Amino acid sequence: MIYLDAAATTPVRREVLEAMWPYLTGEFGNPSSHHALGEAAGQALKSSRTIVAEILGCRTGEVIFTSGGTEADNLAIKGPALASPRGRHVVTTPIEHEAVLESCDYLRRHHGFEITHVPVDHLGMVEIEALKGALRPDTTLCSIMLANNEVGTIQPIAEIADLAHARDIPMHTDAVQAAGLLSLDVRALDVDALSISGHKVGAPKGIGALYLRGRLEAEPLLHGGGQERGRRSGTENVAGAVGLATALRLAETSRVERFVRLTALRDRLTQGVLTTVPEALMTGHPIQRLPSSGSFCFPGTSGEAVLLQLEQRGIVCSSGSACAAGSDEPSHVLVAMGYAREVAQTAVRFTLSDAATNEEIDFVIRAVYEAYGAVRAIAR
Ligand code: PLP
Repeated sequence: MIYLDAAATTPVRREVLEAMWPYLTGEFGNPSSHHALGEAAGQALKSSRTIVAEILGCRTGEVIFTSGGTEADNLAIKGPALASPRGRHVVTTPIEHEAVLESCDYLRRHHGFEITHVPVDHLGMVEIEALKGALRPDTTLCSIMLANNEVGTIQPIAEIADLAHARDIPMHTDAVQAAGLLSLDVRALDVDALSISGHKVGAPKGIGALYLRGRLEAEPLLHGGGQERGRRSGTENVAGAVGLATALRLAETSRVERFVRLTALRDRLTQGVLTTVPEALMTGHPIQRLPSSGSFCFPGTSGEAVLLQLEQRGIVCSSGSACAAGSDEPSHVLVAMGYAREVAQTAVRFTLSDAATNEEIDFVIRAVYEAYGAVRAIAR
């Protein structure tokens, strides 16, 4: 099998599993317990927090471990919005992950918030002039993703944060897809909140983290024993935190060389597909995009049918986000980028992992050519 769906999830790395193992077995303590076992767990949690804080360039007290990207996004959006006396207005984009879109919609439905979705252009870039017009005195939060999960477009987050901060508006970015590929330095990005998820970088599913700037007030979503400085109650997932920290550190150590390698492989894929299937359209920004991300529309087909053909040839990829996969609805991201619904329905997303090779990419290019031909032949 050739796995080209790394944006959906990645396998747990062996080094990560090995680092986690003691905290799932012998050192199984609860960090809140006042005995040696508890202290060992507490120590592991502390070191993991230190590693994550180093990679994010923040203080350890600003890292909240969560159950994943979805929870981090929920807390980042509902937390400050509900705590802020400024007003009831949130600015975001229509291309965010559902975790962001639905959190905003929850605020609208249950707390009377108004949500402004700033438009994006045909490449998936936020329209800066529209953003300027959307930021208001009663805006409590601006939430815009660092890199898109379907088309890979990277937003100029520092520039956007600058605009928000000029109006005293806190800035959140969903960096779930950027983790391990782009710098997550929250000072350079100039963000007040940033979400990441373990399973996109070689840690297990069910662990993530939220950076929340110290001075940013946030209403907790989970109430209970007051863990994570009262901002996220619940016995900590010690092994998960160790896994996340280990995976992030491994990814960070090789980030720049992996970026170069993945970009070359991705460009080989893109050029190959566009040459062998001239009808194909590449979606997303040609340059400002994740190195792992190759996304296309194949007009005149259905994305699901192309996927099926590819799977028969041993290639696993996706028709959009994992959440949208399997549904008949066209990708909300492509529709927001101005693609007609019938074109958006033909989307196929390839996301490369470190395991990808030139030989595999060449095989995929041939398979895409055959798959496209087979689907078109059936359609005729
Ligand atoms: N945000 C983005 C951009 C994502 O791609 C995903 C998952 O695909 C999430 C949030 C949700 O993360 P998790 O699966 O850890 O809940």
